[in-house]
Amino acid sequence: MPLQLGSSRVEDTFREAVSLIRSAKHLTAFTGAGISVESGIPPFRGPGGLWGKYDPRTLELDYFLTDPGRAWPVIKEIFYDNFGKAKPNAAHLALARLESEGWPREAVGGPSGAALDARGYLRTLITQNIDNLHYLAGSRNIVEFHGNSRLLICLACGQRVEASPSLLENLPPRCPCGGVYKPDFIFFGEEIPKSAHEKSQDAARLTDVMIVVGSTGEVYPAALVPHWAADAGAKIIEINPEASEFTSSVSDIHVPLKAAEAFGLIEKELHI
Ligand code: NAD
Repeated sequence: MPLQLGSSRVEDTFREAVSLIRSAKHLTAFTGAGISVESGIPPFRGPGGLWGKYDPRTLELDYFLTDPGRAWPVIKEIFYDNFGKAKPNAAHLALARLESEGWPREAVGGPSGAALDARGYLRTLITQNIDNLHYLAGSRNIVEFHGNSRLLICLACGQRVEASPSLLENLPPRCPCGGVYKPDFIFFGEEIPKSAHEKSQDAARLTDVMIVVGSTGEVYPAALVPHWAADAGAKIIEINPEASEFTSSVSDIHVPLKAAEAFGLIEKELHI
């Protein structure tokens, strides 16, 4: 069936991307805020980005620790009132199907165990997102580089709990021990969890094709992940309607489409 992507250059680029995906022995994906834009969650940067409306200091660790009562109402509005209503879109669902469907491949895995269980095309999904939408879509082999907003962690006793609406009625939310809860995702100035870092490095070293979706490549160390993969010899396919930091540095192919449209077309081409 003929593709209609607006220009023959985009069509050629898209076909090249599908052919790489089809021939990949160890396919991985690396996603950023852009994949959730079509679920109604704005990105941080760019047109309509959250930093046009909110103060980015809200997510700085020192700012939060100095006065959690000041930071929490903004955090609740962004990450719980708004994110809470979002549903996975066609791109999240396609990545989940790519994990569970496709011809069986020989299992390979790194020392940390990343990528051992995959049955389909996609071995590992590394995400910078904290919105839980990949999990809700059905992906299971996920490395959450920046944690997840679904859980809160007590700053005093370290206990983790579900971020239920009742817990967020009085801000800042408090643990039965009296300590303040912080969302269990990474704030600016916080270390990346060791296991997420190691699993991402393993997957990046093993992959031969990485699909990078909806990321500016401006947040470090997450932005290193596609570079690790490229340095190890992988081909990088980027899906992003705009050019990013990756486009001119590591991307072999830039498909300038929105994530949901691009993955809808990829699924059609792969017949899954
Ligand atoms: P970013 O906010 O810096 O940039 C978003 C990127 O997505 C841009 O390059 C933009 O062109 C692209 N984009 C916009 N619409 C798109 C679409 N429909 N399809 C594909 N791409 C699209 O995002 P980032 O690079 O991921 O870095 C931001 C950091 O903010 C991340 O670390 C992440 O943890 C966090 N964040 C997460 C969420 C979320 O969980 N949904 C939302 C906002 C920010």
